[in-house]
Amino acid sequence: MKTDLFEKQDWSGCFAFQGDRVLVKTGPEPAIPPAEDLSGLCFAGCSGEARSAGRPGNCWIDLGKEASPPEGMEFVSLRDIWGLLGERAFFEAGRAFQLMEWSRQNKFCGQCSALMRESSSETALVCQDCKMTSYPPVSPAIIVAIEKGASLLLARSPHFPKGRYSVLAGFVEPGETLEETVEREVIEEVSIRVKKIKYFGSQPWPFPHSLMVGFTAEWESGEIAVDGKEIEDAGWYEPDSFPDMPPGISISRRLIEDFLLRKGRR
Ligand SMILES: [Zn+2]
Repeated sequence: MKTDLFEKQDWSGCFAFQGDRVLVKTGPEPAIPPAEDLSGLCFAGCSGEARSAGRPGNCWIDLGKEASPPEGMEFVSLRDIWGLLGERAFFEAGRAFQLMEWSRQNKFCGQCSALMRESSSETALVCQDCKMTSYPPVSPAIIVAIEKGASLLLARSPHFPKGRYSVLAGFVEPGETLEETVEREVIEEVSIRVKKIKYFGSQPWPFPHSLMVGFTAEWESGEIAVDGKEIEDAGWYEPDSFPDMPPGISISRRLIEDFLLRKGRR
């Protein structure tokens, strides 16, 4: 088990980014560098004082495209933070990344074009002129593991790595419950109907600002027919014939592991 970086009362780290790569102190014990080691490095933008206090993920620095890492530090992809520093660090780095992107994309009011300023009371940007308030976007998406007897539905999106299969996922549309999204996505992508839709768990996913909401479900009716766009191939797989699986950090992998556990394969 990795030690939790944020258990320490004196946490003073700050997430500095070049694009979606995070600055990390190298060495035998990799770490997020303390804010004081980064003073003077605010090139393309920084979190303000109000948001720097409180949660670790509130402190961010946008180093811009040109910056090279200071001595003893290197840039690591946001995805790799999980393996290097643990789940909590990945979620906090993801929060910092999302706040940075939101701040960069909302310098001006979408309603009257005046400058936006940080709110002093909440995580929000407020227009200096018309007072319109902007909150950081979070886009809910469902992800669902569908069972049929001893088999699990696994599908392939054209932009997966070669040979990779996973469970189905899709974004929630306005006016939908999460369960309705599950039903709609499954029909659209593989043409089957499902029943017994049950909540499994959730995971923030900062690419770019999703909240993955996991479900399990059972096949009810219909034959698999892929849409050919979002899904290019799908099938019912028993544990012994599983294809290449998504990496361990994603909720999709946790859903698959849960299926295997329930079928006595873990
Ligand atoms: Zn305005």
